[in-house]
Amino acid sequence: MTNPILLIVDDQPANIQMLATILQDNYQIKVTTNGKDCLKIANNSPQPDLILLDIEMPDMNGYEVLRQLRASQVTIDIPVIFVTAKVDYDDEEMGLELGAVDYITKPIHPAIVKVRVKNQIMIKHQKDQLIQMALHDQLTKLYNRHYLMETARLKIAKSLRHKVPVSIAIMDLDHFKLINDNHGHEIGDKVLIAIGELLLGHTRKEDITARIGGEEFVIIFDHCNQIDVEVKANHLREKIEQLKPQQLNITASIGVSQLDFNGETLEQLLNRADKALYQAKKQGRNKVIAI
Ligand code: GH3
Ligand code: MG
Ligand code: MG
Ligand code: MG
Repeated sequence: MTNPILLIVDDQPANIQMLATILQDNYQIKVTTNGKDCLKIANNSPQPDLILLDIEMPDMNGYEVLRQLRASQVTIDIPVIFVTAKVDYDDEEMGLELGAVDYITKPIHPAIVKVRVKNQIMIKHQKDQLIQMALHDQLTKLYNRHYLMETARLKIAKSLRHKVPVSIAIMDLDHFKLINDNHGHEIGDKVLIAIGELLLGHTRKEDITARIGGEEFVIIFDHCNQIDVEVKANHLREKIEQLKPQQLNITASIGVSQLDFNGETLEQLLNRADKALYQAKKQGRNKVIAI
């Protein structure tokens, strides 16, 4: 695993140098001497895992930098430790009130800085893992239903606002119960993992691919109309038919729909695609139906 990224911000290069020397063995170090650049670096990928932030700086002080970090969805979760010559309790209180996770006063004690940084990095790592678990399906690593619903709502609002087409596909594997019954649950799980990988490999980064239940998957296709989504779904259906995971013949039925610009809700859109899926099953499975 690569080392976590630390961003050190201090208007005095000598202070940066001192912190970097203490921490460089265990972290990738990025540095800047001003608040504006700190915000720029924090907004760009890969983002820092932790920011060590001076308070007294010309132009923009550390409090203001932290305020701006907290005001943006992109940077709101990056933990910040103040490292400052301001030793008053009032200053420390203000820093912590603003949302700093810790407050270290200068002159610094290397061993203490190391431990405090390590602790915050550990907390950040645990938080990242919890978020990852909360948003993903643990078997296939695709997004889960919760993430899909939250993000789909945003995508639909955006699509309605800008009149950009967005489409949805609901996919259900055919006769999957038989796979479990005939080959065991473990093989069934491996098939689901293989299907998940196939879906990820054949969709774009801006699409959302989720496992919403046992053998059911949903894909939200960005910038995609009814004609395109039917083509894409048929392509996926063919790929699944050819895949033969665990040497088994697996097929899928898929219902697709384009979002209606007349203010259709996510629930209504899902309902329509679900009806299409039901039709695909009724008409013999291994089919794409568009409604
Ligand atoms: P249809 O073509 O009508 O969709 O038939 P089906 O057998 O796929 O549908 P049904 O809903 O009757 O069965 C779905 C099966 O999916 C039941 C269950 O055994 C299996 N399943 C659900 N979740 C998992 C899972 O996490 N792992 C495995 N191995 N199987 C699962
Ligand atoms: Mg300073
Ligand atoms: Mg099902
Ligand atoms: Mg099924």
